[in-house]
Amino acid sequence: MRGALPEDWALPLVDDVNRAWFTSQQLALQQCTACGRVQHPPEEICRACGSMAFTTAVVAPTGTVYSYTAVHHPVNAALEAAVPYVVVLVSLDERPEVRVVGNLLDADSDEVAIGLPVETVWLERRAEDGDTVWLPQWRRRANVDKEAS
Ligand SMILES: [Zn+2]
Repeated sequence: MRGALPEDWALPLVDDVNRAWFTSQQLALQQCTACGRVQHPPEEICRACGSMAFTTAVVAPTGTVYSYTAVHHPVNAALEAAVPYVVVLVSLDERPEVRVVGNLLDADSDEVAIGLPVETVWLERRAEDGDTVWLPQWRRRANVDKEAS
């Protein structure tokens, strides 16, 4: 898939704080049980109230591009075959205050714009311990392309 991370790219270390995000194959956001705030990326403590008790809030896998950049220089040798690629910061439709970073797959840099509707694409990777990790990445929303053409 064009713009995807290399198969052997380093994977995040999955722990109790980020397990839902990386293993559920859903946009499973961390929600504070004390104040209700949703935050991302997941942390051990609520950035709003300091509570350490959380539940999970699953939101729809859609959003719009809040910002983006096109990467032309491979900062790591493992990325030489991947450049150029586009990295997007996505504002989630159901939680616009939450922004998620990822690559925009199958798109050139002249095909991305702020406000572009996108949807999640899940990249499946196998961690060293054998666990399956699902990395959320993005692509242009298909139904929007049909409406526009
Ligand atoms: Zn809180």
